[in-house]
Parts: sequence; C-alpha cells; structure tokens
Amino acid sequence: MSDPKKIEKTEQQWRQELDSETYRVTRQAGTEAAFSGKYCDLKDKGIYNCAACGEPLFSSDTKYDSGSGWPSFYAPADAEVVGQKNDYSHGMIRSEVVCNKCDSHLGHVFPDGPIETGLRYCINSASLDFKEESKEGE
Ligand code: FE
Repeated sequence: MSDPKKIEKTEQQWRQELDSETYRVTRQAGTEAAFSGKYCDLKDKGIYNCAACGEPLFSSDTKYDSGSGWPSFYAPADAEVVGQKNDYSHGMIRSEVVCNKCDSHLGHVFPDGPIETGLRYCINSASLDFKEESKEGE
C-alpha cells in the first residue's frame, strides 16, 4: 500500500518537470561539483525547499560554512522530512539523505558537524529551492 503523503511520479514525469541538472542530482543521486552550487555561500534568511516537490527541508538558521563546497546544515527543518539510507557506492560507507516526501536524493550526512548536533548535512544546491523569508512588517 502506498503512503498517501508521498509524492510518486514516473521517471518520465520527473524528467519532464525538472531541469537536467536537478533531475540528475535528485532522481539519479548525482553530485554537483564542489563550490559550483548556487546556494553554497548563500547567507540569506529563509527556507530551503525540496527542488523536486517543494517540501520545506532546511532552514537558513541551521546553515553554516563547512568549507566543503556544498550547502551545509547541522539539522533538518523537521526530523520527519529528511530520511536516511545507507550508501555503499564509490567504495565508501555513507549515509545518503533523501526527501521523505518524494524520495529525491539530497546529499549525505556526516558525523563531523558543529557542536549544535555534531551532524553535517552536506546537500546539493540542485536539490534545493530557496525561498527568502518574507520581509512583510519590517
Ligand atoms: Fe521532495
């Protein structure tokens, strides 16, 4: 039985909806080149949504400069929204992180993060869609 909260689409649908780099990273577990992503150095306040389904995944409040070349966060926006899978590719054992709503590949999580949680969510910019915090009321 499929989970009604999940977004499920065929690979053909995803391929039509997403630009080629987003498709390659999110649906084929690709990795963008270090320091190439559009959000690597972004420090604006806001929410990083899933580039494939729009689910809010990370807040700028937990973004930090890891020096890795990819947007890095020490926690997801909500414990439920990001899932983990073991990844044995490229001769390494890593924890892949995925969007729990659409199963898109986001990046990996490593146990060398800052003191807040000790975790480093190393995320591809191509998996994210940043929405700046509303400035209404300022
Ligand atoms: Fe998603």
